Amino acid sequence: MPPALPAVEYRIRPANPGAHLFHVSCTVRDPDPAGQVFRLPAWIPGSYMIREFARNIVTLRAELDGEAWPIDKLDKHSWRAAPVPDGGVLSLYYEVYAWDLSVRAAHLDGTHGFFNGTSVFLAVEGRSDRPCLVDIERPDGAEYRDWKVATALPLARGVAGAARPYGFGWYRAADYDELIDHPVEMGSFTLGHFDAAGVTHDIVLTGRHDCDLERLCEDLRRVCEWQIALFGAPPPMDYYAFLTMVVGEGYGGLEHRASTALLCSRAELPWKGMEGLPDGYKSFLGLCSHEYFHSWNVKRIKPAAFTPYDLTQENYTRLLWAFEGFTSYYDDLALVRSGVIAPDDYLGLLGKTVSAVLRGSGRSKQSVAESSFDAWTKYYRQDENAPNAIVSYYAKGALIALALDLQLRAGSDGRSSLDDVMRLLWQRHGQTGLGVAEEGVFDAVRETGGGTLGPKLARWLKKTVEGTDDLPLARLLKGFGIDWQAEPTTAAPSLGVKLAAGNGECRLASVHDGGAAQAAGLSAGDVLIALDGLKLGSGKALDDMLARRQPGDEVEIHAFRRDELMVFSVVLGEPVVDKISLKPAEKASAGALKLRRGWLGRAA
Ligand SMILES: [Zn+2]
Repeated sequence: MPPALPAVEYRIRPANPGAHLFHVSCTVRDPDPAGQVFRLPAWIPGSYMIREFARNIVTLRAELDGEAWPIDKLDKHSWRAAPVPDGGVLSLYYEVYAWDLSVRAAHLDGTHGFFNGTSVFLAVEGRSDRPCLVDIERPDGAEYRDWKVATALPLARGVAGAARPYGFGWYRAADYDELIDHPVEMGSFTLGHFDAAGVTHDIVLTGRHDCDLERLCEDLRRVCEWQIALFGAPPPMDYYAFLTMVVGEGYGGLEHRASTALLCSRAELPWKGMEGLPDGYKSFLGLCSHEYFHSWNVKRIKPAAFTPYDLTQENYTRLLWAFEGFTSYYDDLALVRSGVIAPDDYLGLLGKTVSAVLRGSGRSKQSVAESSFDAWTKYYRQDENAPNAIVSYYAKGALIALALDLQLRAGSDGRSSLDDVMRLLWQRHGQTGLGVAEEGVFDAVRETGGGTLGPKLARWLKKTVEGTDDLPLARLLKGFGIDWQAEPTTAAPSLGVKLAAGNGECRLASVHDGGAAQAAGLSAGDVLIALDGLKLGSGKALDDMLARRQPGDEVEIHAFRRDELMVFSVVLGEPVVDKISLKPAEKASAGALKLRRGWLGRAA
């Protein structure tokens, strides 16, 4: 047996919660004799934007065998220590500022600590295949006596000081890639458990809440079990954690191989005595379902461009429509197929996705393949022109998945579906670690469909993801006994704008291409103050005034741009048909009903 590689050892201590500082050390027993380079990732997998986490490193120094040792900064996120004599043990000590309340970085105060490894653990260049040991330390002080640790990082069993379940102490990872794929929560959180296909799943809630944990565990168990059954038991992890930060107003999630970091609004969680299924709770379940589906689709079935990740720069792929879009399709679908929501609820959610896609004229300028490729500079860095310039590879990607699923089902008389495509991708890529080439999804569709259907749908898919045509959803859904109804959200004439939320003022967030406001010269950022000489305090006042006018009417709008008062003459447009409702048809053929039940479950 070859000698075990020396592990890289990290220690992380919430040294000063009041100042939001983690103290971290990294010890290397066999540093590069030419001068060891250390580097912090520039981005975190799952969130496709350069974030330059190293800007939060406040101080950094090196020691050799306990004595100060020279180290130089090479670039924005890399350092190189002076060459070390044979047998020397090199340690780095650094402080990380952690005050980013998102799922992507690190956050620390007197109530809890949270970190992603990408924010706190420097990679040791040339040693990223080494096992890693991490000592997660409890902050000093009696007030932290009750703190626990929640993470999917494996316990370092057999190591002196190894952590016990939910405890501080030593954890381990097989290599750096695994180390940074297990976020860590610490504090006095609420813990719920459930078993799905023999695997323990934890729900960890940080922040004040009145959650009905029993209900949440039961609903999530059904969703997780359905997903596990889709790909085939057992699931690819032996433990899973939903690490959830509960706040007044917030939404976000990031997927990892055996956990997810979530941010949710308190009002979205179920409460004891809750009746029905409120929209907020449906949305939270959809988020959990989405991140869980990623355990297969993107964490294990990965684009070739991510195998391995290059964490120093953008990693380009034209496939995010498959990894985010297909996951977005299955997130709500898993809720109905597992029986957690009713088919009518599901059609309501689907109608909202369809409407959202049809509202942006950017869909006629950018394909989902281009949107995927440009995620780093466009989808993740949206400005006021985004609705006119880009399409969401999430939302349109989900509709492409829907159209593909319906065509596979209809074309095979219900014998094959997108489920089979996902299973093929899982066997071919997820279980082998082989990345999905840029043509890989088309290949899987061709083979799944087989005969003439497979090649036809593979060609259709390629043309669709590379093009900007709208999807034939109304026609496809009709074959499943579902009616498509398009109508305006409001009967009032249209200004062609989106208002910014809040503040009691009427500020334009975006101005839509081809709309009345754009034709009159109004711009995003303009604050509308009067319509035909009457004050506009809020968006509601604007809606009320527009409702009393007709398309084609000319109105005078006063607005501030910068600090200059300007006046615009606006000819109001026709109400925009932007609301799609999907409902089970009153009359549907037996064939359509059979397809619908195959798709949405027996309750449909
Ligand atoms: Zn996602």
